[in-house]
Amino acid sequence: MAPARTALTSLAAPAVPTPDAAVALRPLDPGRARITGGFWHTRQQRNRLDGLRAGHAQLEASGTLRNFRLVAGTETGEAAGMIFQDSDVYKWLEAVAFELGREDDPELRTMAREVTDLVASAQLEDGYLNSVHTLRHSAEERYTNLAWNHELYCYGHLIQAAVALARSAEEEQLLDVALRIVAHLRTVFGPGLRQATGGHPVFEMALVELHRLTGRPEVLDLARFFLDVRGKGERFDQVRFGPGYFSADVPVRETVSVEGHAVRALYLFAGATDQAIEDRDEELLARCEAVFADLLATKTYVTGGMGARWDWEAFGDPYEMTTDRGYAETCAAIGAIQWAWRLLLATGKPRYADAIERLLLNAFLAGVSLAGTEFFYVNSLQLRDGAKADEGRSIVHGRRGWFDCACCPPNVMRTLASLDHLVATQDAHGLQIHQYASGTWSAGEGEETLTVSTTTGYPHDGRITVRIDAAPSAPRRLSLRIPAWSRGRARLTVDGAEATVPADQAVVVVEKEFAAGEEIVLELDMTPRFVGTHHRLDASRGAVALERGPLVYALENEDQDEGVTVDDAQVDPSAVPEAGAGLDTLDGAVPLRLAGSVVRSSPAAEAWPYPVHGSADAELERTAHTWTAIPYFAWGNRSVAAMRVWLPVQEQS
Ligand SMILES: [Zn+2]
Repeated sequence: MAPARTALTSLAAPAVPTPDAAVALRPLDPGRARITGGFWHTRQQRNRLDGLRAGHAQLEASGTLRNFRLVAGTETGEAAGMIFQDSDVYKWLEAVAFELGREDDPELRTMAREVTDLVASAQLEDGYLNSVHTLRHSAEERYTNLAWNHELYCYGHLIQAAVALARSAEEEQLLDVALRIVAHLRTVFGPGLRQATGGHPVFEMALVELHRLTGRPEVLDLARFFLDVRGKGERFDQVRFGPGYFSADVPVRETVSVEGHAVRALYLFAGATDQAIEDRDEELLARCEAVFADLLATKTYVTGGMGARWDWEAFGDPYEMTTDRGYAETCAAIGAIQWAWRLLLATGKPRYADAIERLLLNAFLAGVSLAGTEFFYVNSLQLRDGAKADEGRSIVHGRRGWFDCACCPPNVMRTLASLDHLVATQDAHGLQIHQYASGTWSAGEGEETLTVSTTTGYPHDGRITVRIDAAPSAPRRLSLRIPAWSRGRARLTVDGAEATVPADQAVVVVEKEFAAGEEIVLELDMTPRFVGTHHRLDASRGAVALERGPLVYALENEDQDEGVTVDDAQVDPSAVPEAGAGLDTLDGAVPLRLAGSVVRSSPAAEAWPYPVHGSADAELERTAHTWTAIPYFAWGNRSVAAMRVWLPVQEQS
């Protein structure tokens, strides 16, 4: 039968490798990935209807948009905010571009055009564009402080917005601005010119994407130059924090483990993976895979959060992962998702889709309120009773509408708006579904198109129904990821008949001649489970974390009895937690009831908290208690009170 036309939208993937690129999997074509209902759709609609509009108001209120008017001369005054303030506008524009691709909205389109005009009006004659730098510094000072002045970083975000506007929204004005910037950069940087790069990566992956869109080889050459000059030549040796902070201690190709500022490192390696894909550079890809594996093994929280240190917003040493001071910036989760998605395209390995799932539903999603308009910058795994906020980013404040350094909010907006394409990919044989969301996905061309619709209550429910909407009259492959947490415990039925799911496989492949109307049902095991911790992870030793399906859980005081605090919790991991009815106050999130106790220290230990080991003073008074846990991403939406992910194991008496 003829394939159904499903290109209801023009939303394009955030990274689209060229036809010659070395990838195992390709993004679905524009308009062929669409989340239409369920958990993520709710989040996307709030982002679309409320988040983006609130973001625009914040860009105006913070003076960020006004900075461009000051350069254009339509207003007078002094520049507002951070030297990289322009980037907030570009990330917001990119988010709007994706939203216009999901579904047109005349009001949003008008806003995007006005902001684009404003940005274009601040570009100088020679192509240079940075409103704050132009207002605060002389022309001679351009690129004299590459470590901190973020000129290349801002270009990177502008280019990403320009690519998204062109691909998903058919708006090309910002693309002209981007190409003028590239022409300008090629007069300053490159072989025979300045051998240096910028302190904050992102422009590497942006330039690769601009090359992918325009086919211009000189743009890919410039991306490769910036990638390879890092860690050589001008290496940020003389500036505060030194080269390690900037991921410039050694060249990318010699890196063993990420270090320094987390978001810088993650954006850099996402770009390096793009470069490896386009250059068909197997050695560079292998390096990216090895560094990612080390990152997961030694520097990632159970939530997927990355970057343990408040100091420098940086990765800690291996296994240095405090829970109460854990930083885990929202932008770092986003950078890691971007990197993992590129590794998934390059290799097809389901481990990267597993990583994306953990990052998306825990580290990333905690970064935005259920309403979609307030944000956490930092995503610690514990908030203690009596905690005091020491600065604006502190979780003690709860989520906030904006920040002095507002990197995270518009980063969340663009991630939510482009989520549809992280769900599924295609190859010559068919369609691969990596993430579970209700929607419609199409792979292949013309008569070969395979279109499916998925329906699921994921992540709170483990049943996923895949309905064939249209299929060619030839065998195709449909593959479904079995998440690591359900491997060996998944059930599959194909058109009513039970099918075998090999226990050791991360992906189940159904290959056959599909017929429209046929249904495939995957059931994942949602039994709650406790996870432990590596012996070197001091901060969570002797404790367990609770997971159900893809979600990490937390105890929050809001759900406990009056007068009881989660700071005094111990749990009994031998008792299987019970799932309760979905909570209306948390969009249907499923609470879990855990057996355990409330503990109290001896009077001696209350006075001096280091009793002699094994003495009577070291004994705890314990009262049996049932604790209630909620998904970590949902904490801090009702009140801001004590919360913890890691739960001390109840000592045996
Ligand atoms: Zn951020």
